[in-house]
Parts: sequence; structure tokens; C-alpha cells
Amino acid sequence: MMVPFVDTHTHHLPEKGENIFSCIDLSSSVFFPMENEEKNFLFSLGIHPARTEQSSIKDLHILLEKHSSFAAIGECGIDKSIPVDMEKQKELFLQQAFLAEELQKPLIIHCVRAWDILYECAKKFPVKGRRWLIHSFRGSLTLAEDLLRHNFTLSLAPQMVKNMPERVKKMRQYPFLLETDDTKEELALLYSTASTLCHISMEGLKERNWELFCDFFRFSREKGRE
Ligand SMILES: [Zn+2]
Repeated sequence: MMVPFVDTHTHHLPEKGENIFSCIDLSSSVFFPMENEEKNFLFSLGIHPARTEQSSIKDLHILLEKHSSFAAIGECGIDKSIPVDMEKQKELFLQQAFLAEELQKPLIIHCVRAWDILYECAKKFPVKGRRWLIHSFRGSLTLAEDLLRHNFTLSLAPQMVKNMPERVKKMRQYPFLLETDDTKEELALLYSTASTLCHISMEGLKERNWELFCDFFRFSREKGRE
């Protein structure tokens, strides 16, 4: 099997014929590509913190029931840069985290300047059982190390890979995933930039990320989802 370029979190479908495997956030999607011929994606559903006021956990329950082959809950999270009440954000995030725990699904997290609150929330869950992904990570090495120590999985923001080479270089010794999120960045280019900065071959990086991705989502291309 050809090892694909993994796109850990995106809002776009992979183009036809591309050697890409994605986890697509379909939370605000109106059309649901439940399956394509190439079967080259998983999808997640959740309530983004920016939609805290407009949505409730009940809406998510309905959505999940309708599209039951979802692979993860998210993106959800806490964002101090938006004018949304922090207590409400936290409550909605925790509801989604408990739901993920109950359904044994991983969580895709959007966290902006709210690490203290995220850690506080994380304490309510057993460390070993948590499969929590910090998507669009662009923090310092110290923060990355601390998150990894607390059993978080990191996916680097495309903006970090493109514009913050010094930060990416420092990630060299640690596992990290890559993503396009809502940008139009070319995934292969992000891989080649990260591979150069971290002195790892392109194939090596692809293999490492495919393994990390499958492990995180408990996904096997041969067997389908477990
Ligand atoms: Zn996103």
C-alpha cells in the first residue's frame, strides 16, 4: 500500500486521485459525502467554541445520530480571543468531552490562549484513556513538551509550518501531525517543509504520521474503523 499524506484536520474533501487521507470537519457542512470511492477520509462532528451561543449539545446529539460513522468529536474547544462567555464555552466543551469519552471517540480540540482552562478540564478524565488532539498548534516548545507529557497529541498549524521555521525545528525530536485546516495550503508542501526543517525524510515523515494517525483514530485501512 502506498503511504498517504495524512491531513489530520481539514474542512475540505481530498481531491480525486490525490494520495491524501484526511479527517474532515463536517460540523457545519450542509452536504455529507458519507463515503467516496477512494474511501480516503474520516470525518468529525462537533460544536466550535465560536458557535457556543447558537448551538447546544442536543444539536450535536442529533447530528451524530444522523451521521453515525463519525470518527471523532470536534472541533470543539475554548477560545479566549472570541467574545463568547468563558463559562459557557467551558461547559459546552466539557459536555462534548464527556460525550467523546462515553462513545470512546477521540476529541479534536481548538484551543486559543486557554491552556489553563483546558488543563483544568482534562483533569476530569483519566490520562491514559484520553485521545485528545490539539489541532492547529502553534505554541512554543515548552508548551508542546508539557502537552505531550500530559498525553495530548499535536497537529501543527499550517501557518506555523510555513512561517515559524524556528518553532518547527524545535519539534524535531517529538511526534506531530500536520493539517491544512481551513487554508488552501498544499499538504505535500507542508510535509516537505516540515521534513526539511526536522531532518527527516519525506517518506519517513509520511510513514510516521500515518502510523500516529491510525493509532490515534484506531483506524486500520484494511479493517476499517475498529
Ligand atoms: Zn478547523
